[in-house]
Amino acid sequence: MKLTIIGYWGGYPAMDGASTMYLLEKDGFLLVIDVGSGGLVKFQKYRSITEIDAVLLSHYHADHIADIGVLQHARLIQSYITGEEKILPIYGHEEDEKEFEKLNHDYTEAIAYNPHNVLKVGPFFIRFLKTKHPVSCYGMRITDGTSTIIYTADSAFQEEWIKFSKDADLLLAECNFYAGQNASDAGHMTSEDVGTIAKEANVGEVILTHLPHFGNHEDLIKQAEEIYKGKISLAYEGKVWKKEG
Ligand code: ZN
Repeated sequence: MKLTIIGYWGGYPAMDGASTMYLLEKDGFLLVIDVGSGGLVKFQKYRSITEIDAVLLSHYHADHIADIGVLQHARLIQSYITGEEKILPIYGHEEDEKEFEKLNHDYTEAIAYNPHNVLKVGPFFIRFLKTKHPVSCYGMRITDGTSTIIYTADSAFQEEWIKFSKDADLLLAECNFYAGQNASDAGHMTSEDVGTIAKEANVGEVILTHLPHFGNHEDLIKQAEEIYKGKISLAYEGKVWKKEG
């Protein structure tokens, strides 16, 4: 499968950037994970909005769903222009009914995932882990049968991450704070937290994302590297991770 980072900022997009949004592709199927602020502008650099087959949301904080409304308008307008009337499924949890209902629109349909079950979307199988965050949020273990990606979504450190992430090929981990800071109270992780999960879970590689608006991001890598000895890189717009199978 192929992962493209569309947006990686935590909280809100920096100038000309985008907050959390990722594209996963396999056999021509396009799954978008989270749809953050500025994400739709960036997405069109890589693929057209009408090509998206499904959307999957971790939680309903604005930096992960801000562009859902404009995505719905885009699909509506494209239906007039291109005649494309395919309904776009948007998968979300039902623990916030009001936010979940907003996923329904003329050409989008809200579909609830049961976080206790495996969700199949196109060629992807997704398991969920409830994260430690101020609102209900789910991390994901996504596999296409060949390779496996862990997406932490937003979360403070919790032991459960280690078992959940075991032997994954890639850990796409939020890293909103630097080593030594108190990330936990805000429901986020430090570089040390991510390094610990990566090491203990024996993941193949780490990409740090949901990056903070302060400090030097390179320091996040150095700090995580003191714990985890595998490959660590920073998310950036257009960054691609690929494993064929
Ligand atoms: Zn959040």
